[in-house]
Order: sequence, then structure tokens, then C-alpha cells
Amino acid sequence: MAAPDLFRDLVAHCKEYGFVFPSSEIYDGLGAVYDYGHNGVELKNNIRDYWWRSMVHVHENIVGLDAAIFMHPTVWKASGHVDAFQDPLIDNRDSKKRYRADTLVEDFLTRLEEKMEKEIERARKRFGERFDEAFFRKTNARIQELEQQLNTVRQRLQEALEANDWGALRQLIDDCGIVDPVSGTRNWTEVRQFNLMFATQLGAVSGESDTVYLRPETAQGIYVNFLNVQKTSRLKIPFGIAQVGKAFRNEIVARQFIFRMREFEQMEMQFFVRPGTEQYWYEEWKQRRMAWHRRLGFSHEYYRFKDHLKLAHYAKAACDIEFRFPFGYKELEGIHSRGDYDLSNHQKYSGKKLQYFDPDLGDSYVPYVVETSIGLDRMVLAVLSAAYCEEEVPTAEEGEQATRVVLKLPAILAPVKVAVLPLVARDGLPEAARKIFDRLKLMVHCHYEEKDTIGRRYRRQDAIGTPFAITIDQQTISDETVTLRYRDTMHQDRIPVRAVEQIVQEKLDWRQWLA
Ligand code: ATP
Repeated sequence: MAAPDLFRDLVAHCKEYGFVFPSSEIYDGLGAVYDYGHNGVELKNNIRDYWWRSMVHVHENIVGLDAAIFMHPTVWKASGHVDAFQDPLIDNRDSKKRYRADTLVEDFLTRLEEKMEKEIERARKRFGERFDEAFFRKTNARIQELEQQLNTVRQRLQEALEANDWGALRQLIDDCGIVDPVSGTRNWTEVRQFNLMFATQLGAVSGESDTVYLRPETAQGIYVNFLNVQKTSRLKIPFGIAQVGKAFRNEIVARQFIFRMREFEQMEMQFFVRPGTEQYWYEEWKQRRMAWHRRLGFSHEYYRFKDHLKLAHYAKAACDIEFRFPFGYKELEGIHSRGDYDLSNHQKYSGKKLQYFDPDLGDSYVPYVVETSIGLDRMVLAVLSAAYCEEEVPTAEEGEQATRVVLKLPAILAPVKVAVLPLVARDGLPEAARKIFDRLKLMVHCHYEEKDTIGRRYRRQDAIGTPFAITIDQQTISDETVTLRYRDTMHQDRIPVRAVEQIVQEKLDWRQWLA
């Protein structure tokens, strides 16, 4: 399916099956704010759980935290957000749409990369077995030309961003001939800065001193609690603090469903290390985080690393794990080596020492930080887009649809794990099915359904990604066996009722995903 169609269908599917709704929909929605329905909330909880277990439960030296959304306003001065949490934005005068100027150039770069890949694929087909990609890249004039253009644009973008030179960024957009995807024109305004933090007032009397912000990231709650946690947990460096919570950003461009929201959830882990060891831990966390993604079993082609073009002035190294969303490779998670920037600044602004006494060195220092930061909602979108599948059903019986939509979700993430389905709603089958359901529901999230034909019920469960369905029929009453149907293969096994719990337990054993 073409990518734009896939994205459109996925958004519609999310609404139809209770995953994601536009916020306040009866009032026509609120830009870039979404609500999760009964299946969405289960999926989101399961992803959060997978992250929390892998981070906090599996690592002896990582502990959790749940800090408040509101923080002392000086936190955001110290962190640099008041002065520097800005995006360069640009408007198109014809479409009246607003864009992030750097994203326009990045999308242009992606298109150049795609052009190159197409040239290479064409040559691969033409030359067949004899094709030598490295040689082709080196010698083909068209590829050389594209590569040079890519490098020049990349270099200019990097320089403009590093220098916060918005004039240069605007010139680059002109020179690349970038047009507005909506109006198709180049009628751009100048590039301007825009602070992304939401401000509000604390207490009844408004005034400058009462201004507080909705946190734009969860990390600062970890930094300001660094010593509280270290002292009470008695952890020694290297150790980490993990947190999941809401963050708020007044995003300029908010048109990609739950990819970019104004209210979203982050899963962040700050790992405190001895200065000098940060590069080792940065590489280590890059690998561990990529392994976490890949364990879910989607194709490796969905993921790639991308080093940051623009390093924050304090950052030692930074990269993204990009995911191939239906609209292209985009950031899913960031891994950043932040040095002692945050802790040192909080020390300076608060006047309180944020140092760690290292018993092995017999000395105190401000630790360095390696951060892993992933958007929970973005992860929901990544998982849904990789799992969404429309396919033919060769075994469809008469009167049944010949195609199905199935969410091939990893079993641990599926909103519902087992559907318990009496074949018909009479002859004692509902009672027998209820008995099984009442036991299974204490283990995992199950659905009991007796309405409609069994075929329709299977399709509904496929559409929400339920990995296992158990069907209770006449034979169950006589010999205590049921049919176990597997979502992906649609294969069915006849098994004893007493084996059901064991099989479900085995298939959903966390150890397979955490080891
Ligand atoms: P982007 O470049 O896409 O704006 P970012 O570099 O500003 O992202 P970070 O500040 O590194 O993002 O935040 C860490 C993670 O939080 C991101 O990798 C992403 O998964 C998530 N995230 C950031 N902004 C949003 C948003 N507006 N909506 C949903 N998730 C977000």
C-alpha cells in the first residue's frame, strides 16, 4: 500500500477501533491534542510497562521517579529553556501554513536521498548479478551530482543552525527551491524564533513572579532530585533515574497525528557517570536502546541511527533512533551525552551543591549524564504503523470478507491478549466459555464475545491485534477441549481446556522480551 494511504487508513482505524480520538471532538477538536480510547490506553500502558520493566526492573542500578509537572520557574532558566527552547519557524503567505524551517530543509534532504536510492535500484535491475554498488556510487555522474548537493545542503544547514543564523536558513530554503507542499509556491516569510513552552500563573494573583511553565521535558525533574534519589537509594555511580510523564510543547507544526503533539508523554532515563567514561556509556546506551526496539520483532529496516547535525552547545554527542513511519524516517528516540551541563547549572542557580562523593576516587565531582529519551505516543504510532496490515484471507468462507485488517502486534503489547468465544450463544456454550474466561481474566486482559458469527468476531479481534482466540463448541462440553486460533497465521489447534492457561502463560512470558 502507498505510504500516504497507509497513514490515512491507520488514522481512521485508530478511531474506528477505539485507539485514538481527536481531543474534544464534539467541538471540532483541539490542534495536536488527542485522547486514547479503550484499546489505545491498553496499548500505551503495555508499551510503558515494557519500557519500565526493561529499564528499572532489569537494571539493578536504575530506579524510578515521578516528579511533578510544575517546577520552580528558575529550573527552566537554569536548563536554558527560557532563553533557548525555540524553533525557527517560517510561514507561507499563500497557504497561510506555518512550518519549522529546519524541517523543510531536512525533508528536502530526504527527497534527495530517495532520488539517489531510486537511481541505484534502477541500475541494480539493469545490471543484475554483475552490479557493484560501491563502484556505481563512485563513478556514476548523476549519483556524484546528487551526493555533492546533499553534502553542500547538509553543511549549510548545520552551519546555519549552529550559528542561529536565520537569514542563512531562509537563503538555503530559497536556494534549494523548496516549495510549500500545500500551495506549491515559494512565497515565504522570514524565519522567526518561537518559544515552545506553555506558561501559566500559580495562585490567584497574576504577576511576573508567579509565572510557571508546563514542563517541556521530564528530565529536569530528575536532575533536581538527583541527590535526593542518590542518598535515599544509596546507589553508586554509574546509576540511572527513570521517569515516565507528561510533557507539553506549543509545537508550531502539528499535523502528523500523535507523532507531534502539544501534550504528550515521555519516557526518559538519565544515567549519571564518572567524567571521562561518558563516551563509553553513550555507545553502550545506543546499543541497548536499539536492542530494546528490535526485540519487538519488527523488521530491522524500520530502524536506523542518525547523528545530530546540530549539537546543543553543551552536548558531547547526540543521535536519534529513527523509525520508518508511513511519512518517512523520523526521530523516535534521542540518546544524548549531556556532560555536566544540567547539574552544574542547577548548582549555580540554586546555590546548592549537586556533587557526588566517589568512594573509589576519594573525591567529589558533578557527574556527567547520558540520557535516553523516547516519546511514548510516538512509540504507539511506530508500533501501530509497523503492525498494521491488510491482507487476503485464502480460507475465507462464503459470506465472509476475503480480506482482513490485522494488527500484528507483539503479544505483550496487544491491548487484549485472549478472546474467549462460544461458537453459538446457546446449548450451554456461553456458560462453559464464561468459566474459562473467569479464570483467564485473572491472568491477562481478555475479551468475552458471543454476538455475531465466529468469522466476524475473529475479524474484530484481528483488527485490534488480539494474538489468541479460544473457541468453545459442542465438543468442549463432551471432551473438555477448545480451539486455539493464532492471529497471524490463522492456524487453529485443538487443545485441552486445562492446557489453555499454560499456553497463554508461556506465550506471554515477559522473559522472552526482557532477557
Ligand atoms: P523533534 O525534533 O521531532 O521535535 P526533539 O528532538 O525536540 O523532537 P526531544 O526533545 O529529544 O525531541 O524529545 C525526546 C523524545 O520525545 C523525542 O524523540 C520524541 O519521541 C518525543 N517528542 C518530542 N516532542 C514530541 C511531541 N511534540 N509529540 C510527541 N512526542 C514528542
